[in-house]
Amino acid sequence: MTKKLPSVISVDISPGQKVLVRIDCNVPLNGDGTIADTFRLEAITPTLEFLRDKGAKVVLAGAIGRPKGKRDESLTTECIAKYFLGKVFEKCVYVDEAFGEKVDDAVNNISAGDCVVIENLRFWPEEESNDESFAKKLAELVDVYVNDAFGQCHREQASIVAITKFLPSFAGICLEKEVDALENVLTNGEVPVVAIIGGAKVSDKLGVIEALLNRADTILIGGAMAYTFMKGQGIGIGDSLCEDDFVEKSKEWMETGKIVLPTDTVVADSINSTTTQNVSGIPDGLSGFDIGKDTIERFSKEISQAKTILWNGPMGVFEKHQFAQGTSSIAQVVAMSDAYSVVGGGDSVAAIRGLNLDSKIDHVSTGGGATLEYLEKGTLVGVDALIK
Ligand code: AMP
Repeated sequence: MTKKLPSVISVDISPGQKVLVRIDCNVPLNGDGTIADTFRLEAITPTLEFLRDKGAKVVLAGAIGRPKGKRDESLTTECIAKYFLGKVFEKCVYVDEAFGEKVDDAVNNISAGDCVVIENLRFWPEEESNDESFAKKLAELVDVYVNDAFGQCHREQASIVAITKFLPSFAGICLEKEVDALENVLTNGEVPVVAIIGGAKVSDKLGVIEALLNRADTILIGGAMAYTFMKGQGIGIGDSLCEDDFVEKSKEWMETGKIVLPTDTVVADSINSTTTQNVSGIPDGLSGFDIGKDTIERFSKEISQAKTILWNGPMGVFEKHQFAQGTSSIAQVVAMSDAYSVVGGGDSVAAIRGLNLDSKIDHVSTGGGATLEYLEKGTLVGVDALIK
């Protein structure tokens, strides 16, 4: 189903109107509390600039880390206010509460086009239990709700789902872009669709592989999950990672004729070894840690014929230089392709960004778990809450 999200762009916002924007500000922090990676904050900036230019009083709400319903001074949202101050808003005030008089006063005291950042919502257990009275308290702060937190939309939480019962609710620009990109992959995009799936475990991507088998013309399998498939085909995998419980399933999937497996592998005697060999069929005593040269060539050929590409999961242990070639080569080929390309999932996004190739990809997703769940189910609870 093609999603028609109610867009923030279509809202008639008058100067001074109060808008709560749920953002995904779950950013990695350095030891001194500064932000280590601003990718997610850059992605939501267009929505914030749009609201600022309309003269909205913007209230930013999000969560950092896993404080588990308790206040944790190392996870406050003060760093988010500092980040947007001067970058998007002339005034951007942090308040150490999420609702009530103190927040109300702060919102009343800022001018049109300025911002208040409320406290980490996960300091309250009611956020993660999707509590309606907590959602109502947040809703009472403002006139309009905007969800721009794609990476959190698979979570049934008060500021994602319950809050939409109490306010006119819209999707932010980042959320719309994310949904459009995944809809392109799942339904609207041009064929042939080539999916590249890697990473550690078949079991993590079971639903995604099944959904993609219905849609993609070709699925290239790399990463550790490839060894489960290879074992099912009677290919030697030595001491490589394997999920024996999924070998039978992988055989069924292979019968579709859509799945392409590695034909050679970069092996070593341990993940820390820098002595590697490129082999086809892995002997006992050695383990696979990356796709080999022939596989890179074969996968590249398949990718060059695609009109729509989805990439999720690294081709090997890309964190180690000696096993990064497969992932970086595939990143280059996806970036060079004229096809519509979507890269989702933390590690493949890290690889693309590490190589400075993000500008050459049509859509680099901000969500890991949310991307996988959208691909699997074709929607997310947070998206459905906006459409109702
Ligand atoms: P995922 O979160 O499922 O996408 O998995 C990403 C992780 O899989 C990364 O940390 C990779 O280092 C790891 N990985 C990929 N290929 C292999 C492999 N051949 N052996 C062990 N780990 C791998």
